[in-house]
Amino acid sequence: MENYFCQKVDLRSRAAMVQFLTSHFRYNTMNSWNNSTSYANNVKVNRIIPREHQDQAYNLLEQEAVFHHIHVLFSEWAEQYHYRWHAGFNGRSGGYIVLYQGQAESPKSGPKSYCLECGQHNFKLVPPENPTPEQRLILLVHQNQTWRDAVIYENNEELIKNLGFEREAALAIFAAEKRKISQGAGEFSSSNKCGKCHAPARVNYETPPTRFNIFPVRSTDMGEDFHSEDWDMESLRDRVRLVQSFDQLCDQVRALFIAYCKDYRVEEVEVMVPQKRKILKPVEV
Ligand SMILES: [Zn+2]
Repeated sequence: MENYFCQKVDLRSRAAMVQFLTSHFRYNTMNSWNNSTSYANNVKVNRIIPREHQDQAYNLLEQEAVFHHIHVLFSEWAEQYHYRWHAGFNGRSGGYIVLYQGQAESPKSGPKSYCLECGQHNFKLVPPENPTPEQRLILLVHQNQTWRDAVIYENNEELIKNLGFEREAALAIFAAEKRKISQGAGEFSSSNKCGKCHAPARVNYETPPTRFNIFPVRSTDMGEDFHSEDWDMESLRDRVRLVQSFDQLCDQVRALFIAYCKDYRVEEVEVMVPQKRKILKPVEV
């Protein structure tokens, strides 16, 4: 891949690193009136795409598939930084890629299950299909959350004894589960039904997806004094490596875009759209 944005920097030289960081292209993180900027690159077609591919490139700007591919690159890159750093398009018609700050959310607060039919997330777990005796007790707590533990026991005494639990053991399991619920974890819904499309198709995540926040108003190193004591050589190197890696990501985006220009053409096709309308029909006699 051609190094278009990415530059070599002498990581032994303080002056070279400061020079690189302070002279790097910057752009607004939101609007010009927010006065908040970060490291960025200009990725306008007329700037980064060779002349012979530019017409094709403008057509590709309307293709969702291309941008989906680019966003996969962005999210893989952010994952490397545990979502502390993100890349995103900004500017009128998205002509710039900007380095954003962000933060991963605790997986505890994320969705626990999702619908196989429509993809809808759910913050509760699907109850187990063949629950163990202990899980049966845990489900009792979820089905009767407003009841006191002793009441849950009394109302289900027979069942609980048949499952092989003494009163004390059952109450201990109830208490532990209620503690988990109050901490926002491990709550079961009553069935695997999806709340959106109502299909009985919800399944639990094996590894819940990481959710993150991006802080679009936060500037990065705006007017930063890299000569101050806070910036020792190691912190400077880390920051240079981050920006170099961001530049490399922008090079990947550019290479991907050029590859699409070479390997695909945008064609116009006619599509037949099924349509419903109401018509008049004589009554049959
Ligand atoms: Zn659904």
